[in-house]
Amino acid sequence: MKQVLILGGGTAGTMVANDLHGRLSSRDWRITVVDANNRHLYQPGLLLLPFGTYQPKDLVRRRDRYLPTGVNYVIGDITHLDAEGQTVDLSTGARLPYDYLVIATGTSPRPDQTPGMDDPGIWRTSAFDFYTLDGALALRDRLAAWDGGRLVVHITEMPIKCPVAPLEFAFLADDFFRRRDMREQVDITFVTPLEGAFTKPVASRHLGSMLDSRRIHLEPDFVVEHVDPETRTLVSMDEREVAFDLLVTVPLNMGADFLAGTGLADELNYVQVDKGTFLARHHDNVFALGDASDIPASKAGSVAHFAVEVFGQNFVDHVEGRPMRAAFDGHANCFIESGNGRGLLIDFNYDTEPLTGVFPWPVVGPMALLKETRTNHWGKLAFRWIYWNLLLRGRPIPIPTHMSMAGKVPAEPAAAAQRS
Ligand SMILES: Cc1cc2nc3c(=O)[nH]c(=O)nc-3n(C[C@H](O)[C@H](O)[C@H](O)COP(=O)(O)OP(=O)(O)OC[C@H]3O[C@@H](n4cnc5c(N)ncnc54)[C@H](O)[C@@H]3O)c2cc1C
Repeated sequence: MKQVLILGGGTAGTMVANDLHGRLSSRDWRITVVDANNRHLYQPGLLLLPFGTYQPKDLVRRRDRYLPTGVNYVIGDITHLDAEGQTVDLSTGARLPYDYLVIATGTSPRPDQTPGMDDPGIWRTSAFDFYTLDGALALRDRLAAWDGGRLVVHITEMPIKCPVAPLEFAFLADDFFRRRDMREQVDITFVTPLEGAFTKPVASRHLGSMLDSRRIHLEPDFVVEHVDPETRTLVSMDEREVAFDLLVTVPLNMGADFLAGTGLADELNYVQVDKGTFLARHHDNVFALGDASDIPASKAGSVAHFAVEVFGQNFVDHVEGRPMRAAFDGHANCFIESGNGRGLLIDFNYDTEPLTGVFPWPVVGPMALLKETRTNHWGKLAFRWIYWNLLLRGRPIPIPTHMSMAGKVPAEPAAAAQRS
């Protein structure tokens, strides 16, 4: 009996377990999933929780309910991986051997990596994250009681998971304070290490003008060096300063600690893999999927979903000695909440940046790309149902695995030139 061990039972790990369970014979294969706990968190909901749209009960479900019967589920903190000896150690003292390993342990915010950021004098009283359930809840309570001042929305360093989430937070904050009739009392600044609002030129222009029209000040090229808890100031490497009364930061994102020193991962603990097949560079029996890998795509649930669709047949081919024929194209598809009951949609891959147009069908849409519509907002809200009921369980959804140009308007020459 061969053992395939899946580390992490989040978005990617759960989808992989469902997919491989349908492909591998239970006579020959034993599939095991390991995770630190039995609580699956719907992370996209953390964006809306601080504004009161969701409660924790809407976002957390038992993890084992989404794993198929016949898949072995082990709860424990992964503390050590020996890629040569093909074993994984848990905090419980258990040692799990494997023939094939799928690493899907995601990425986590690490405020401890920036001096002063998690200082007890400011952390969760005037400096918050919303990428964790505890952080989002603390921020919700602070926002409800806050009487205004300088709100700074901040990205520490790329890559982060859901790279549009901080922008969405800034748009939603603008809307939140308008509705409370206190927008004039709040000064909003968006501080980013990027040179514009987003990574890709066409989307960056659109999103940058949306910041302008909402009177949200953009502070680009800001690489934070430390946070001064006394003066409540972000200080950059080039000695610029941005003062805040309320800081909403996305701390440095890092892969799991047990990956450091395994020879598999880079300095941020992301597993170095082939960007088409997810096979680890130097180990023929190790794959990494989802946020845990170093592929140059967005760290997003949608990317994990399309990646798993490519991975399944490739895995079977690989273990049976055939070449892996399918190659992942980096397809990402993300809704962007813009406030006032509207949202945008972006659809892109390794080679094609987010463009305008309609999605998924030419002419009829019904979603508009890079344009604020109510349909896109409802799409974002509907996604929670799709996540729990279709996506995690590997049931089909009507979006192609590979990005399609159907309905998209090609970039103007100026944007294309800027890109190259
Ligand atoms: C605020 C926010 C908004 C987002 N919005 C969107 C969106 O709109 N659209 C979108 O597509 N994506 C969105 N995302 C991103 C999406 O949630 C992630 O990309 C996705 O969950 C990645 O899946 P994953 O399986 O790689 O990692 P995860 O789902 O994070 O799963 C990793 C799992 O590994 C486990 N683990 C980690 N380390 C260990 C260890 N040492 N021992 C045991 N277990 C361990 C964790 O407990 C976890 O269950 C958002 C994320 C956030 C934070």
